[in-house]
Amino acid sequence: MAANKSYDQYLETARHQMERFADTPLLHFIDGEPTPSIGGEVFENFSPTDGVLLGAVASGQAADIDAAAQAADGAFYEWSSRSGKERKRILNAVADLIVERADEIAAVECVDTGQTIRFMSAAAIRGAENFRFFADHAPDANNGRSMPDEHHVNFSSRRGLGPVGVITPWNTPFMLSTWKIAPALAAGCTVVHKPAEWSPYSAALLAEIAFEAGLPAGVLNTVQGLGETAGKALTEHPSIKAIAFVGESSTGSMIQAQGAPTLKRLHFELGGKNPVIVFEDADLERALDAVMFMIYSLNGERCTSSSRLLVQASIHDEFVARLTERVRALKVGHPLDPATEIGPLIHPRHCEKVRSYRAKAEEDGATVIVGGGEPTDPESYYVNPMLFTGATNDMRIAQEEIFGPVLTTIPFDDEADAVSLANDTEYGLAGYIWTGDTGRAQRVARDLDAGMIWVNSQNVRHLPTPFGGTKASGIGRDGGPEYSFEFYMETKNISVAYDTHTIPKLGQI
Ligand code: NAD
Repeated sequence: MAANKSYDQYLETARHQMERFADTPLLHFIDGEPTPSIGGEVFENFSPTDGVLLGAVASGQAADIDAAAQAADGAFYEWSSRSGKERKRILNAVADLIVERADEIAAVECVDTGQTIRFMSAAAIRGAENFRFFADHAPDANNGRSMPDEHHVNFSSRRGLGPVGVITPWNTPFMLSTWKIAPALAAGCTVVHKPAEWSPYSAALLAEIAFEAGLPAGVLNTVQGLGETAGKALTEHPSIKAIAFVGESSTGSMIQAQGAPTLKRLHFELGGKNPVIVFEDADLERALDAVMFMIYSLNGERCTSSSRLLVQASIHDEFVARLTERVRALKVGHPLDPATEIGPLIHPRHCEKVRSYRAKAEEDGATVIVGGGEPTDPESYYVNPMLFTGATNDMRIAQEEIFGPVLTTIPFDDEADAVSLANDTEYGLAGYIWTGDTGRAQRVARDLDAGMIWVNSQNVRHLPTPFGGTKASGIGRDGGPEYSFEFYMETKNISVAYDTHTIPKLGQI
């Protein structure tokens, strides 16, 4: 997680990179070429560090998506027919180049999104790990199963599904896009990627790096643009066989409707309102560190953030007092300063949303322990961390995904109460349990309605494990070759007779 350069060095890296983007509009990358929009449309992109205009970005329309989908369609047969070994070699070369340029990627991501360098340096490296992990599985991706019966040998095999669309959000854009794109490419699919309009730059770097590493033209295409134009057109395009989407639950629902006429296969990683449950018998020191980390890292703009702290009533006051001290000590500042823990939030609209929960907390009867009262310049993208206590689970601060450095604490009495509060939400992405009692940990983990549970741990990813949510938090799972490849591949069964079975005779004379 440590950034290894100084503030000045990161500023210099970012300045150097952003100068490249400032002169001409940031272009799409279609069929191996940086490409402007066919109609010349652009939108402007601003940095949350100081509100400064970073540059114009090509704004993809239906015609640009069509060009990218055609390129992906044209490249599919050749790419999916290559041996898994060859796909592995190229994807590992992509990983090598990501590592080489990790500092540039991280610095660009900070300036573009406001995420801090202490987390973005690790996120860039994780992008490379995603490529390496799926590259290593590429040689086995086409393998199937043998299922003989009395009269037939049955065997299955898998093949890349076709050109697929990947639509990503702005919170940790580089890492998240590699988590989708790497398995798709390893499976033999070709990709059209539509990054979030608030964070376009690192996607452009990824396309450039992948092409330089030897990915053939048309295999990875990037179309910049707005959700309602470029995103929508991608979900409706008849050549695109599937959409892997990461974003808000309400957008997922729109994509489901948009993709219906062309029968899109869909994979959704959506929002969360994840509980962290701290029992009185937990290692409270470690629990406190994890509670802090899981909501105040990544600016709280994290789908798996534990934004609801359920804490046992017997330890509530002491735990919250210690938490309050730590929240007050958080360092808010420039995202490229390695000392900064919370950077600016991505966009004025998002800042306004996050700030609005201070008033909502008070209106609903909670107490604003940290974050209330300080004047926050409405023009600034910086939002002070907030901590709300005295909340009940029906309040808006306990039910709605705020997606910022904001934690709501709720006391509970016993295990049954904790489980009931934890499950009382429309979301079901992740849950965190802190207890010293192994049986209790197992019981609560069994009873929580969520896709991923961590016991006595913050979110630590192990790439083979299934990633995804229940309820409004998603459809499907990523991870490991079985989960990700299942989505990006088509399975075929071949049944060959031993010539021993009976064939009913019709129309006998
Ligand atoms: P968003 O849904 O607003 O946008 C995500 C992407 O969808 C963007 O690229 C956007 O342009 C595109 N889009 C918007 N409307 C579209 C449409 N009609 N058709 C096609 N594409 C469209 O989400 P966001 O605000 O960028 O990201 C924050 C959300 O992402 C949060 O809810 C967060 O929980 C979620 N998220 C989930 C995970 C996960 O793994 N579950 C991970 C990260 C973020």
